[in-house]
Amino acid sequence: MLTAAAIAPFVDEVVILDKEAALNGGGTEEELRQEFAATGAKLADRAKLRKGVPQYIHPHGLLCRATHSVELLLPGWLELAKRLGGRITLPGRVKTFYKGLWTHHPVDTTGLITLSGSRGLIEESIRAQLLTLCSNVHIHCGCWAAAPLWSADGSCLEGVVTKAGQEFWADLVIDAAGRRSPVPGWLEGGGYAPPPEVEVDPHVTYSSRLYRLPPTEVENKDWDVIYIRPTAPNTRGGLLQTIEGGLLLCCVWGYSGDHPPQDEQGFLDFLASLERRDMYEAVKDAEPLTKPVAYSGMTNLRRLYEDIPMPGRLAVVGDSLAGFNPVYGQGIGVAAIEAETLKKLLQERARECDSGKLAAADLGALAAPYQAMAKHIVDFPFSRPKKALVEKLMGSYLEALMKLAASDMAAFKAVQEVMNMMTGPDSLIRPGLMVKALRMRFAELLSA
Ligand SMILES: Cc1cc2nc3c(=O)[nH]c(=O)nc-3n(C[C@H](O)[C@H](O)[C@H](O)COP(=O)(O)OP(=O)(O)OC[C@H]3O[C@@H](n4cnc5c(N)ncnc54)[C@H](O)[C@@H]3O)c2cc1C
Repeated sequence: MLTAAAIAPFVDEVVILDKEAALNGGGTEEELRQEFAATGAKLADRAKLRKGVPQYIHPHGLLCRATHSVELLLPGWLELAKRLGGRITLPGRVKTFYKGLWTHHPVDTTGLITLSGSRGLIEESIRAQLLTLCSNVHIHCGCWAAAPLWSADGSCLEGVVTKAGQEFWADLVIDAAGRRSPVPGWLEGGGYAPPPEVEVDPHVTYSSRLYRLPPTEVENKDWDVIYIRPTAPNTRGGLLQTIEGGLLLCCVWGYSGDHPPQDEQGFLDFLASLERRDMYEAVKDAEPLTKPVAYSGMTNLRRLYEDIPMPGRLAVVGDSLAGFNPVYGQGIGVAAIEAETLKKLLQERARECDSGKLAAADLGALAAPYQAMAKHIVDFPFSRPKKALVEKLMGSYLEALMKLAASDMAAFKAVQEVMNMMTGPDSLIRPGLMVKALRMRFAELLSA
């Protein structure tokens, strides 16, 4: 949808095909607002219908960069998301436990904002704003893209045919079908090599459950999120997120095959076994609204399209290009930055045309350089064969800064700017921060 928002101003029509029959998108703002104000059971019902996105019932938030990017692509979206119940969360109100330390700054002066809400709220608010602002975007629900339509000489992807046999022809085909995209298989079928894949699988399983707190307790909290980040060899982590209506979405996970149980008592026992019991204490007397729901298969997967000869007029975005372990909360942000990049390329190209619209050849020609740029956006450090010394030093410096961030607001702000994708890790190389981090390390060594 964000990619559709990016390209809509430059083309006659954008057609989104989604295999899901149950997409909302047609409701008025008031209908949506009432739906999100309703009980969590409704959220669970919607999750059952939204099979194409199995992560629907699990925690979702937008990092600062993602929040700004979505607003840039769809002006007015943030106000709509807030009206529907989305909560602005300041990074300091994310109470984080990591390596024996709590980092928690209830009075946050970073100037950064993030958006907390259910996946449903984030998705529906984006869909609603897209359809309001872009009258040339049309969503066809229940349309399962089943096979490619190749040009006569096989050099271009010119469209898709759905399971029901309907043909859709296009000047540019964009694959936004998520992690389980059929496109690598289509390429193979068309005589192309499928993209090589770089995968780092943490063998993680998530289990999430929705709770309701009494309203007074919701307002009296000095946190919006509790995040227990496991330190090896501990494999268990958890996140407790306040979403619309003050509901709490409680998610636990285990790495290396340490699966959280699905039954009520097993889920609570797992929660109580985390390195700190704060999440358990917060929900143990709260009203559970759903059963625990598990999700696994969240490997970090990067498809290296830039390494293969691509057919013309095909671009790949979002999780289909790079899926991340969701614990970093980066997926939608990366997709939004990709969409921004595509929009910039289109703006540059459109300036060269009189009409402001782009022809098929322009779109086709853009797909390849766009793919190369997208590679840089999503490149993982792990795709390099060996950790260079400088990377190792950077890793331990970052660890020191994260420790410092527990008590030092300047360090906290610097770390959060990177974690929220507002700036790159290079921004942490500042004399003031380095001196503080070194001083802290020396003090630790002396006291050891
Ligand atoms: C447990 C979990 C928690 C997460 N939390 C966060 C978070 O806090 N913050 C964040 O930024 N990201 C988070 N993510 C990542 C985020 O969900 C994804 O990065 C994001 O949804 C990717 O968007 P996408 O459009 O590429 O794919 P998807 O959201 O997966 O959408 C793919 C769409 O394509 C449709 N589709 C698939 N195949 C076909 C087909 N053949 N024909 C037609 N339609 C098809 C599906 O129905 C679906 O609507 C989380 C992920 C998980 C698993």
